[in-house]
Amino acid sequence: MATRPVRWGLVGATTIAREWMIGAIRDAGGEIVSVMSSDAARGKAYAKANGIPHSTRSLAALLGKDIDAVYVATTNDKHKAQVLAAAKAGVHVLCEKPLALKLSDAHQMVTACKAAGVVMGTNHHLRNAATMRAMRDAVAGGKVGKPLFARVFHAVYLPAHLQGWRIKDAKAGSGVVMDITVHDADTLRFVLGDEPVSVSALTQHGGMSGPGIEDGVMGVVRFKNGVLAQFHDAFTTHYATTGFEVHGSEGSLIGTNCMTQKPVGEVVLRNAAGEHKLDLMPENLYARSVSAFHNAVRGKGQPAATGEDGIRSMALAIAALKSAKSGREAAVEPGL
Ligand code: NDP
Repeated sequence: MATRPVRWGLVGATTIAREWMIGAIRDAGGEIVSVMSSDAARGKAYAKANGIPHSTRSLAALLGKDIDAVYVATTNDKHKAQVLAAAKAGVHVLCEKPLALKLSDAHQMVTACKAAGVVMGTNHHLRNAATMRAMRDAVAGGKVGKPLFARVFHAVYLPAHLQGWRIKDAKAGSGVVMDITVHDADTLRFVLGDEPVSVSALTQHGGMSGPGIEDGVMGVVRFKNGVLAQFHDAFTTHYATTGFEVHGSEGSLIGTNCMTQKPVGEVVLRNAAGEHKLDLMPENLYARSVSAFHNAVRGKGQPAATGEDGIRSMALAIAALKSAKSGREAAVEPGL
């Protein structure tokens, strides 16, 4: 018997949905039923432009529309109430990162979804990248020996069309740490198969963001097994390249052009035998994330990144901000 497509409601008429997630949901066999926007005219225009049959201003109306799942991608301050409402309505949830602004809120969201028996995923796309999966396998397979260091190069230039709440509105959850460092946190945990215990970070105001909002950061994370991981994130660098490296006792993995939304990048393993490129089978990162989510909705496996993963990535970002403020190493305390 054919399986009915997973029916989705979009919470938020957003850029990320327009640029990536609407296509990803459809590629993964899902159907988008309706979109919710706080502005009726924008919601209607967004629905029309993206071939979505309905739009609404009301979350209750969206949740009452015979849908299986919502994709919550509003500004970060709104995620909590919307996820709690979805859980209450018995609707599965894929939520954007960071899950919330406070860890206690993220815990409430995960607990509510669990209690309601609905699937909750966090949309950390990078662990779906072929580059990251190849590095994770190489580390787990002992290809670098004992992992000692990792380096994440994730300084980008925030495109003009995204230079809104991210750099101006602290209440909405602005700043590069909650925007980009959370992704580094998830990717490091995924590739290393290890958990962070503490972090030291320094933030920067490089001229793009509003007062009190950081637009650059550098830091070092200490992991349980002793690995030190350096990260560099920014909104302000036009010409930097992205990358992800793991350096171990027997080899190094050099991932280039891989901290990105696109299915691109390569990974080289360097060791006593020389250098060789790892074989990769690139796929759309977001479509892979949605496919795993669809399977989880059907009772098969888990989302690529769970709600708990979302709590853990937030915990590292929050500790980095705490460290930058205090000038001291800060403990990473997800409370799980
Ligand atoms: P947007 O700025 O596009 O959308 C956020 C909210 O702003 C929307 O919910 C919308 O309100 C409002 N909005 C959108 N366009 C307009 C407009 N033209 N005029 C007035 N208001 C507008 O956010 P993003 O798509 O960049 O990010 C949304 C979420 O997704 C965030 O949590 C972010 O961290 C996350 N994200 C995740 C990525 C990933 O790869 N995992 C990548 C990018 C973002 P309304 O819905 O009420 O219409």
